[in-house]
Amino acid sequence: MIKKFLAAALIFFLATAVVKAQKVDKIVEGPKILVLNYHQVQNNFNSLSIPVNQFDAQMDYLVENGYTSISPEELYKGLSGEISLPEKSVLITFDDGYADNYTNAFPILKYYGLKATIFVIPALVGRDVRYLTWEQLREMEQAGVTAQSHTLNHRKLEELPDDEIRAELLNSKLLLEEKLGHSVEFLAYPTGTYNLHIAGIAKDCGYRGAFTIKYGNVDLGSNLFALERVPIFQTGSTMKDFYERIEYRQSFEEFGWVKR
Ligand SMILES: [Zn+2]
Repeated sequence: MIKKFLAAALIFFLATAVVKAQKVDKIVEGPKILVLNYHQVQNNFNSLSIPVNQFDAQMDYLVENGYTSISPEELYKGLSGEISLPEKSVLITFDDGYADNYTNAFPILKYYGLKATIFVIPALVGRDVRYLTWEQLREMEQAGVTAQSHTLNHRKLEELPDDEIRAELLNSKLLLEEKLGHSVEFLAYPTGTYNLHIAGIAKDCGYRGAFTIKYGNVDLGSNLFALERVPIFQTGSTMKDFYERIEYRQSFEEFGWVKR
C-alpha cells in the first residue's frame, strides 16, 4: 500500500516537473504587454461592472507604477518590430461599448491622460440607451479613446455559417469606418470565442489583429489573431484581485528568468 502511494507520488512529482519545464521553455524574450479587459464601470453590482471609485484607483495604480497606455496600432507595431514599446505598456480595453464608458470611465481616463480602446457593437450604437452614441464615440476619440470592432451584432460566431461570420466581421468594420472616419483593423471576438477558421475570415476582411479573453500577457510569441488579455471583474475583493492579476504576471516572469 505504502509502496503504491510512493510510486504514485513519484509519478505525480515527475509529471509536474515536466509540465513546469515545458512552461519555462515557452517563455519568450522581448516586451510583455498588459492588456486589461473591462466591460462596465458603474456602481450597481454585476460581475462585469467595476465600481467607479475602484476603476479610478486602478487607473491611479497604473500611472503610479509607471505604466504607459498604448493603442492597438502601437501594440501591432511593437510586435512587428516597427517601434519599440515602453517597458511597462498597458492596453486598456472595454468590450461592448456601454454608455457608462462615457459617463463614468472617460472622465477618469482623461484625468490620468490614459489612452483606451472600446470594442463596440455598431448595430447597438445610438440605438439603445445602455450603449454609447456615435457623438460620444467621436468626442472620446479626440481624447485618445478609440473604437474598434466587437462585430456587428455580437452573435456567437462559432455557430454561424461562413457568409454570416464574414458579414458580422466586415459590416461592423465598414460601418465604424464610415461613422468615425478612421480605419478599423482590430477586433475583440464576442464572448472571447475564436478558432483558426474564424481568425482566417477576420484576416480576409482586413483585420490585423484580434483579442480573446485568454488570460495572459501579450509578447512576441503571441498569435496576432489570438491576443491574450487580463479580464478585470468585480469580486468580493476587486482591488486585491486586480493587484494579484497584475502581480501574477510579473512574478511568473521572474520565476521564468530564474529558471532559465
Ligand atoms: Zn462582448
